Amino acid sequence: MTLVTRFAPSPTGPLHLGHAFSAMTAHDFARSQGGAFLLRIEDIDRQRSKPGWEAALLDDLAWLGLTWDGPVLRQSDRLGAYRDCLQRLWGEGAIYACNCRRRDVIEAASAPNEGEPVMGPDGIVYPGTCRPADPGPRSAPMPPDSALRLDIGRAFDLVAPDGVLTFTEDGAGPAGETGAVATTRGQVVRGIGDVVLARREFGTSYHLSVVLDDAAQGVTHVVRGRDLFEATRIHAILQRLLGLPRPVYRHHRLIRDETGRRLAKRDDARALSRYRAEGATPQDIRRMVGL
Ligand code: GLU
Repeated sequence: MTLVTRFAPSPTGPLHLGHAFSAMTAHDFARSQGGAFLLRIEDIDRQRSKPGWEAALLDDLAWLGLTWDGPVLRQSDRLGAYRDCLQRLWGEGAIYACNCRRRDVIEAASAPNEGEPVMGPDGIVYPGTCRPADPGPRSAPMPPDSALRLDIGRAFDLVAPDGVLTFTEDGAGPAGETGAVATTRGQVVRGIGDVVLARREFGTSYHLSVVLDDAAQGVTHVVRGRDLFEATRIHAILQRLLGLPRPVYRHHRLIRDETGRRLAKRDDARALSRYRAEGATPQDIRRMVGL
């Protein structure tokens, strides 16, 4: 089987050294194995995604000397596929409508009987305010204007009846995890909670789109930063729930600034365009990120 990796940036700002490292790591891995390297534009956030950022990032990647196979996939062209999947999950009773505002979630999670709010990969673990007491198949139509959350405890029970779910880490996680990484029901229910699978304003979410698209693009190896290690537990649940193939994961180290902070989109100072303007070569960039 041919190895397939991908780089999946969001066109919401300039490509910085951290993105460049991620793209080069995935690209070099694919090429060293005679595999394919795909590009996917994660532009479900229609407010923040800009065609100008997309053009700039394609230009930066080409300048770095990266080549990608096949056409670029845009998530904004896949909204129908996300919708169909949500319809199916809705009919099965795996997701439920939630109209809580951010403030409602904070208040409910901070109620005296809840203890300290727990932070999961998506922020405060949702306290389950809107979760229906009687989950199961539904005939009522999916509400068009609500956020949709995964009933994660129920999903976990369906996909991991023996109480443990694993995904394969073929690199090393943040704490050196490698091989079969186990996730328990408690980790999922207490540490992650009912994540949003469709945001009201996007009609989908990062988690849903990423698993559907990795499957649609035939991705066999997901190479991405360790910041997404915990989110992979969510992706493993979704892949099993939806009957999708399970890629192998390689969570790479993160590029940090001098103070040890992970680079973010707003770090314009480390934008590739800036180094390019100052005369850096692609080799200089590789050296800077330790490749
Ligand atoms: N669009 C995501 C990001 O830029 C990609 C995450 C992934 O590779 O799964 O962080």
